[in-house]
Amino acid sequence: MPQSGLPDVSIPRRLSAPTPGWTTTADVIVVGSGIAGLTTALRLRRRVDRVLLVTKTVLDEGSTAWAQGGIAAVMSPEDSPAEHIHDTLVAGVGLCDVDAVHALVTEGTDAVWDLIALGADFDRGDTGKISLTREGGHHRDRILHAGGDATGREISRALIAALDRVRDDPGIEVIEHALVVDLLTDADERVCGVTLHVIGEGQVDGVGAAHARAVVLATGGLGQIYASTTNPSVATGDGMAAALRAGAVLADLEFVQFHPTVLWLGEGSRGQQPLISEAVRGEGAFLVDEAGERFMQGQHPLADLAPRDVVARAIITRMRETGTDHVYLDCRHLGAEFLEHRFPSIVSRCRELGFDPATQLLPVAPAQHYASGGVRTDLRGRSSLEGLYACGETSCTGVHGANRLASNSLLEGLVFGRRIADDLTARLGAGELPEAAPAAATGEPELVGSTRRLDIQRAMTAGAGTVRSATSLAATEQALGAIAERAAKEDADQQGGPQSWETTNLLHLGRALAYAAALREETRGGHVREDFPSRDDEHFLHHVHLRRSGAGVLAAEVVPVPRSNLEGLDLDGSMPVDVLDEDRADVEGADSEGAVGASPAVRHTNLVNGTEEKA
Ligand SMILES: Cc1cc2nc3c(=O)[nH]c(=O)nc-3n(C[C@H](O)[C@H](O)[C@H](O)COP(=O)(O)OP(=O)(O)OC[C@H]3O[C@@H](n4cnc5c(N)ncnc54)[C@H](O)[C@@H]3O)c2cc1C
Repeated sequence: MPQSGLPDVSIPRRLSAPTPGWTTTADVIVVGSGIAGLTTALRLRRRVDRVLLVTKTVLDEGSTAWAQGGIAAVMSPEDSPAEHIHDTLVAGVGLCDVDAVHALVTEGTDAVWDLIALGADFDRGDTGKISLTREGGHHRDRILHAGGDATGREISRALIAALDRVRDDPGIEVIEHALVVDLLTDADERVCGVTLHVIGEGQVDGVGAAHARAVVLATGGLGQIYASTTNPSVATGDGMAAALRAGAVLADLEFVQFHPTVLWLGEGSRGQQPLISEAVRGEGAFLVDEAGERFMQGQHPLADLAPRDVVARAIITRMRETGTDHVYLDCRHLGAEFLEHRFPSIVSRCRELGFDPATQLLPVAPAQHYASGGVRTDLRGRSSLEGLYACGETSCTGVHGANRLASNSLLEGLVFGRRIADDLTARLGAGELPEAAPAAATGEPELVGSTRRLDIQRAMTAGAGTVRSATSLAATEQALGAIAERAAKEDADQQGGPQSWETTNLLHLGRALAYAAALREETRGGHVREDFPSRDDEHFLHHVHLRRSGAGVLAAEVVPVPRSNLEGLDLDGSMPVDVLDEDRADVEGADSEGAVGASPAVRHTNLVNGTEEKA
């Protein structure tokens, strides 16, 4: 077993919770109503008899509805799957699963057309053709967007409208305000349901048990583990934590993406922070420091549109050099009219907060944005536990590797939701995954009071945030271990409730994340080690898999990645010559200094049904 230098980390099998007072049954339980959960549930509904969709609060609460920039897909004849695959692999810094990326990209176009057929209304140019834009790390215009910068809201609206159209169908039951606490397993450790807390009425109220032949976790990310994040309050990593406690393998947890341009609201601001989408830089905005100097040129051929980890690291370096806690985004040259039209939500949010992007520099700093790791799955979405699937940000399908390419996550939920539905349809139809009775709960449960949430977030931010080291990670684990120890004495007799279950999930995942980060003594993608500032392909071209061992402690396994993963990738940022040549034409039209930041007219491509023209 690899050495983390950290002490053993105990993870309990379950959270303290009242004994279930009611039971329900389904063929498949889908947990979560973001793009991943809704896509899976809608596709399954037509094929299996009983789908139960549960979600923690209301249907449109989750990261999906907050997505701004868009969804990436090869939609233009000027683009190709090979180029989208290449850009994704470069962003993943050698750790992507090439087959998963292939599936994402080659199935992504049809999946997006299906979403359009379902009712999602993406922005179109004057000729009625769908507009495509570009974001960091992409070498082609391939980002579809809606409502300017409200892509997620439109996708969420379209999926929920599709669900509403079938809500009376007896084949699907939807329960809102239903928080899944833990996974139920049978005597052979096959997942056969969940325990959940419902704020409901009548029979289904309080803690109950839902039994099923399979469970799909689509509970989104873990952003609330940090003091500041772009993620909404529901992003407490519940699905990942429940899977970890049940014994499933989690992978790549150390790779957390910190978005480079999150509006900086002052030192004390906590929780969800306003994101300034990468698409703003895609349209030509650029970063400057305190002195007004641009600092991304020369760092990477894509300059301000370099992959997110490159930009975030450059910002952190510049902040350190200048002794500040933020830099600035300059959008002023784009003009009020264009900004208001293209980014209505961002502009109005900034103005609400006292910043006018059309006339002022916007203070920005990196904040947690995306969990590249999660519940390890295969290409069909199956986890290491029989009967358990994971989809979307909760999962680690391998498409993101060490860092996610912008706008690939909505696409992942869409593509792998379909794959999971197809796999489950086939398996249930073939009589696989028979109903099973849950085994009695074993081991001591754990619960941490919700008052410790801020302490957990502070410890994670200080030691396991944007820049880490062996010392900082050890300090984080020490703080988290002390919280667990204190809770065992002080909170042991509590039964729990939504806030404390979430807080305990943050603790369990935080400890696992710090453990994985301590094992990776190099800097790669979203994982930045101050004490190991370079990438080390010789020793760390591998995934870290974590799971709860039979003895109840975290066990790590190192899973090597074939060296062929690096072939054909220039990870230092240059791009294939054919792409570079065309990009140069765009770039030169926009910016005499050669930074990518073309004018809106040059950057946008409009298309419909595969025919494409420049706007
Ligand atoms: C501000 C912001 C901007 C972004 N912009 C983009 C973008 O432009 N393009 C892009 O591709 N990606 C973007 N992302 C990332 C992307 O939005 C997410 O990765 C993606 O939407 C995740 O979808 P999901 O279905 O996996 O999870 P979510 O949409 O987060 O949904 C998770 C669901 O699970 C539910 N849930 C959670 N815990 C429980 C529980 N215990 N019990 C029951 N239900 C539970 C939640 O309530 C929610 O319904 C952005 C993210 C943020 C926060």
